[in-house]
Amino acid sequence: MEVKFLILGAGPAGLTFANQLQESREKSFLVLEKEKWGGGLCRSVYNNGPFDIGGGHFLDVKNKKVLDYLFHFMPHAEWNTFERNSQIFIHNQYINSPIESNISPLYNFFYK
Ligand SMILES: Cc1cc2nc3c(=O)[nH]c(=O)nc-3n(C[C@H](O)[C@H](O)[C@H](O)COP(=O)(O)OP(=O)(O)OC[C@H]3O[C@@H](n4cnc5c(N)ncnc54)[C@H](O)[C@@H]3O)c2cc1C
Repeated sequence: MEVKFLILGAGPAGLTFANQLQESREKSFLVLEKEKWGGGLCRSVYNNGPFDIGGGHFLDVKNKKVLDYLFHFMPHAEWNTFERNSQIFIHNQYINSPIESNISPLYNFFYK
């Protein structure tokens, strides 16, 4: 099989490039992914519910341009949405993420 573009990895970079090619009507490309699923470090796995293996919020979803870009090729109705519960284990306790907004539970550790 011969292709013009061989893309190694179906992470955000590979998938974005593949999408750009498709939108420019290029048909001669192939994406190869070594893992079972695409998404790279931004993929989720299921372990008693969805779990982000890497970046949980890798996109600036408050930016209209980013949202417009995402939804023009993947309609909002096709997204899976989950309530997010991100916690950080630090000094033997869990605190909510992001750490900079939730430092009060650490008060006892530093000032006890
Ligand atoms: C814990 C954590 C938190 C993060 N938080 C954020 C965040 O808040 N905001 C943010 O912007 N970014 C965050 N990131 C970074 C974000 O995940 C990366 O910027 C993004 O995933 C990079 O995309 P990529 O496609 O370049 O690479 P990757 O996501 O690494 O994807 C590369 C893909 O290529 C595949 N691959 C590798 N070698 C081969 C091969 N030889 N053949 C075939 N396939 C191959 C891999 O399996 C993978 O699927 C975080 C990352 C981690 C680990």
